[in-house]
Amino acid sequence: MDYLKSKLGFGSKATTKSGKPLGIIIAGPPASGKGTQCANIAKEFGVVHISTGDMLRAAKEDVGSDIGAIMNNGGLVPDELVVGLVEQRLQKGDVKTRGFLLDGFPRTKAQAVVLKNVGVEIDVVILLEVPDEKLVARVLGRRIDPVTQKTYNVNDDVPKEVSDRWEQRGDDTEDKLKNRLGEYHKNITPITEEFGEQVRKIDGDMAPADVWKQIQTELRKV
Ligand code: AMP
Repeated sequence: MDYLKSKLGFGSKATTKSGKPLGIIIAGPPASGKGTQCANIAKEFGVVHISTGDMLRAAKEDVGSDIGAIMNNGGLVPDELVVGLVEQRLQKGDVKTRGFLLDGFPRTKAQAVVLKNVGVEIDVVILLEVPDEKLVARVLGRRIDPVTQKTYNVNDDVPKEVSDRWEQRGDDTEDKLKNRLGEYHKNITPITEEFGEQVRKIDGDMAPADVWKQIQTELRKV
């Protein structure tokens, strides 16, 4: 089975000890390293990465300009809209067989409550903690390669063709970060309270490889 999983590109552990596909939430403030760690988790554990930010950016044209404006200002889009998108996605076959990694959801207590009420089983909530003052530098230095969607920092040593084309997210400015952090701090405690013992706090201010080690340790316990 492990051979088959590795051939399919899955890592060594895609289920809980009881054999159920993993249900993971990753939370943390903007630029806390969720993107990097989500790529690691999806690759190693084979779970389906579901990022509501990515889904909303992809659906921006369909959901209307007011939603685009809210996102661009760092506010939160209405719960019903995001909940609908996530509920639909969680019903797809790949999630049923491979499990899931929710990234950017739930963002409010109401979203967390819906998730629980519809019976979605969450095995672990990874909470990346990074002090606000560190986040400012990370957000302002963040660049996205529009071709590969990879995230970089302005100080990264990258080929010139990448630094010639990389872009800054519209909401990665100091003002908008203030709004996003405000929403984050207002909501994170009520959200984590919904998941109690499943929450694992991890210091996101370490080197990415060390953060990854701790995440793996936590996920292998489930
Ligand atoms: P992210 O890429 O996770 O930083 O999300 C980008 C933006 O999408 C956020 O600033 C919000 O405007 C919106 N967004 C993403 N996920 C949610 C959510 N679960 N609830 C409400 N708004 C969200």
